[in-house]
Amino acid sequence: MGVKVSELLAKVPTGLLINGEWRDAASGETFEVENPATGETLATLASAGSDDAMAALDAACAVKDEWARTSPRERSNILRRAFDLVTERKDEFAALMTLEMGKPLAEAYGEVTYGAEYLRWFSEEAVRDYGATLPAPEGTIQMVTRRKPVGPCLLITPWNFPLAMATRKVGPAVAAGCTMVLKPAKLTPLTSQYFAQTMIEAGLPAGVLNVVSGKSASAISEPLMADSRLRKVSFTGSTPVGKTLLKAAADNVLRTSMELGGNAPFIVFEDADLDQAVEGAMGAKMRNIGEACTAANRFIVHESVADEFAKKFAAKIGELKLGNGLDEGVTCGPLIEKKALDNVTSLVDDAVEKGATALIGGKPGEGVGYFYTPTVLINVSRDARVAQEEIFGPVAPILTFSTEAEAIEIANDTEFGLASYVYTENSDRMWRLADGLEFGLMGYNAGVISNAAAPFGGVKQSGMGREGGAEGIAEYTSLQYIGVRNPYANA
Ligand code: NAD
Repeated sequence: MGVKVSELLAKVPTGLLINGEWRDAASGETFEVENPATGETLATLASAGSDDAMAALDAACAVKDEWARTSPRERSNILRRAFDLVTERKDEFAALMTLEMGKPLAEAYGEVTYGAEYLRWFSEEAVRDYGATLPAPEGTIQMVTRRKPVGPCLLITPWNFPLAMATRKVGPAVAAGCTMVLKPAKLTPLTSQYFAQTMIEAGLPAGVLNVVSGKSASAISEPLMADSRLRKVSFTGSTPVGKTLLKAAADNVLRTSMELGGNAPFIVFEDADLDQAVEGAMGAKMRNIGEACTAANRFIVHESVADEFAKKFAAKIGELKLGNGLDEGVTCGPLIEKKALDNVTSLVDDAVEKGATALIGGKPGEGVGYFYTPTVLINVSRDARVAQEEIFGPVAPILTFSTEAEAIEIANDTEFGLASYVYTENSDRMWRLADGLEFGLMGYNAGVISNAAAPFGGVKQSGMGREGGAEGIAEYTSLQYIGVRNPYANA
C-alpha cells in the first residue's frame, strides 16, 4: 500500500458538507467509524440531524437554477477532472475502502477503477443528452422533446461499494444539472467524504453537492422527503428500507430510483465449460466478500455435473486467504459488522439443520474481526433460508435440477430480480433463458458484468430505474414536450 494510514485519515474531512463548507453538526453530535477487520476506531465524524439535513437542502435549492443553466460542457469538464483526480488518488481511495469496509486491497483498487468510470462515462453523456423532433402525424405541429434537470435530489448509498455507489449517482446528477444532498452509509462514510472533497477540488460549485453523514438515517431522510422542494430520491440499499422510502416518496410524488436487494441464481447446465463456470462463480460469489447485490446467491447446477462443479469450486475457494484486507495476499476480508456475521452464521446453521453439508468452511473465522470462512454447501434444500434470503457473505449454496424448465422455475422462485448468471455452450438455450428469467441483468458465461456503460437495475422487489449507461442520466431528468405550430399547416 502506497499510503500511510494516519496521513490518509488526516486528509478526510470529518464535518458535514453544506454550501461548500465542512462544518460541525448543529447539535454538536458525532459518531465513530470502525475498521471491521480490527475493531479499531478509524475516525469520528459530525453526525447530521434534521436541522443539518434541512440546511443541506436549503443550499441545494439556493443554487439549483444557476446550476441547471450551466453549460453541459462545463459540467462535463468538472466530471472529467473528478475522474482524473480520483484516478490520481487511487492509492488513497483504495486504502480508505479497505479500512472502513474490509474488502481486500486489490478489490478496492478494482472499485476505484469501476467507480471512477462513472465519472468519465457521465462526463461524456453530459454533452449527449439527446431530445427528439418529429412531425405530428397530422402535420399540424412539430413535436420537440428535451430533457431538463429533475431538481434537488436526495442520494442514499449503502456501505458495500463506498465509492462506486456514490459516483453512480453523483455522476449522472452532475451531468444532468441537478443539485444534491448525499447521505452515505454510516458504516462507510469516509470514502464519500473524501470523494466530495475531490469533487470540490474538481471545480464543483458550492451547494451543488452537500453531504450529510450521520448515525440516524431517518432523522435525515424524513424531513427532506417531507419538503416539497426535494424532487427526487435515489436509493441503493435493502428492499425493506426501499419500501419505506417509496411510501414516504408518495406524499410529494417524488421521482424515485430504487436499487434494492438481490438473490441471484447462477445456473450451470450439463453442457457448460465447468472450468469457465467455476472461474465465473468465484467472481460472482466471492468478489466483495459476497457482499454485493449482484452476488450469486444460489448455485443451481444440473444434477449430472453438480458433484464435479462442487469439488472444483470448493478447491478454488480453499485457495482464498481470509484476513485483514490490507495484508499482503489476503483475498477474502471480514464481514462489515457483527450483525452481518451473526446473520451469515445463522443462515449456514439453518441450511445444515435442513440437510446441507459444508464441503469447505461452514463456520466463523478466527480473530477479532467479523470473519466468516469461505463456504460451499451441497445438498441444500429449497426451503433453507440460505436459498430464500440475500446471504451477503462468502457462502455458496448448491442446489440441483434435472430439466431446463425446472432450472428456470427454481431461479424465478424469489421476490428479487436483480442479477442472474447462466453457463451453457448452447446459444439457443441462452436466449430461452434470457426470455424465461425474471431478472434485470443476466451474465451469459460471465460472472462479473457490472459496467458504467451498462444499464444496471432490477425488476420485482429488486427495484426500479437504471444506473449507468445512456439510461442513467435519464433518471435525473424530466422529459419536456413542446408542440410548435407548423406555419404551413392548413389547420
Ligand atoms: P440498508 O438498506 O440498511 O442501508 C442503505 C442506506 O440506507 C444507508 O445509507 C442507510 O443509512 C440508509 N437507511 C437505512 N435505514 C433508512 C431509513 N429508514 N430511511 C432512510 N435511509 C435509511 O442497506 P445496506 O445494508 O447498507 O446495503 C446492503 C443492501 O444494499 C443489500 O440488500 C444489497 O443488495 C443492496 N444493494 C443494492 C445494490 C443495487 O444496485 N441494486 C447495490 C448495492 C447494494
